[in-house]
Amino acid sequence: MITLKELSKLTKSCTCGNRHFDITIEEIVISHDALQQTVSYMKNKQFHKAAIIADQMTFHVAGKKLSNMFKESNFNHEIVIIQPNELGDVIANEISLIEALLGISPDTDIVIAVGSGTIHDIARFTSYKMGKPFISVPTAPSVDGFNSMGAPVVIKGVKTTYQMQAPIALFADITILKQAPKDMIAAGFGDMIGKYTSLADWSFSHFSAGEAYCPLSAQLTKEALEDCVESINQIAEADEAGIKTLIESLVQSGLAMLLIGHSSPASGGEHHLSHYWEMEFLKQGKAQVLHGAKVGVSSQLILKLYKSDFLKLVYKIGSLEVQVPNSKDQQNNVIAKNTEIIKMINSLPDAATLTSLLQKLGGAVQPAELGISSELVRDSLNHAHLLRNRCTMLKFWNEQREIHKYI
Ligand SMILES: [Zn+2]
Repeated sequence: MITLKELSKLTKSCTCGNRHFDITIEEIVISHDALQQTVSYMKNKQFHKAAIIADQMTFHVAGKKLSNMFKESNFNHEIVIIQPNELGDVIANEISLIEALLGISPDTDIVIAVGSGTIHDIARFTSYKMGKPFISVPTAPSVDGFNSMGAPVVIKGVKTTYQMQAPIALFADITILKQAPKDMIAAGFGDMIGKYTSLADWSFSHFSAGEAYCPLSAQLTKEALEDCVESINQIAEADEAGIKTLIESLVQSGLAMLLIGHSSPASGGEHHLSHYWEMEFLKQGKAQVLHGAKVGVSSQLILKLYKSDFLKLVYKIGSLEVQVPNSKDQQNNVIAKNTEIIKMINSLPDAATLTSLLQKLGGAVQPAELGISSELVRDSLNHAHLLRNRCTMLKFWNEQREIHKYI
């Protein structure tokens, strides 16, 4: 994984011309004594009182231990346990946000998220709103959002991502991460293999709609993805090296997003499908499915689409030879960059490659395994692009296929 020092050096030499954001994370520790180092960090930074935000499960696996370490070193702290809903899920919704806001005392000067993605979203949102910094202590290598700024929260049933704040430090304890449930490890890997299509969508949006593109951010994401895929066997065994690679990849993907201040390198059409499914589950009052599990499944569907129908559409548009009366700019750009787009899509792995990787981890492969019907799959392929204002290939395909009679 890239160090913060190397990242700052590379950022200075990146000549892409886009704004690079300062990475405000001071310390990233991935080790066996990460919890102990959290305690030392508190003391060095002269914090006076911490609020540990966790759910029952994550308090049990890490929060309690951290709390005991705080007690041993006489460090003042409070514990805020976020309660599950009637389906047994902890959701980052208005109820959980209020629970956290009520639990964090005014004299607390640092908030610590001890948990997986949802606990981080709650801590990130509430700490920012209370004007306090927060620290990330992940308990499972399940998602790439620990060190990002965005907090996706559900308000009145609608999920919206708010830009809040990145943690000032991240302490990941390998011993704890290694013991994470297998489906959470598979989910972390699923979130990472989504980067094949998210990176391709970002390039496409750059080629076709002029979206700002930073090669450094893309490269960091690509390296993280490749490291993960190379380590598939070790990750499947949940051995130390494998879990370390997975959490480092997730953190590096988070850093790549922080560098440019948005999630384009890590989130494309495959994430839009996943968000669509999640919103449908919320509407129906169904229990939630892990984010990365959905992304692992949606990535295969998106790859299939991009390599078949979308590619046919690009060939067809390319054969129009630039002279398209009244054509939109984006279509003309696709014609101009036709060869590059085709090359890029051909360089992506087949959906079957992703399938076999996910199978090695015992992760879900088919939508039905996650309770997603074929009807919902079809709806999401037709409408998920409307959830975000990004010029992904999914969006382009939906907008152009009717014009070009590819329905
Ligand atoms: Zn994701």
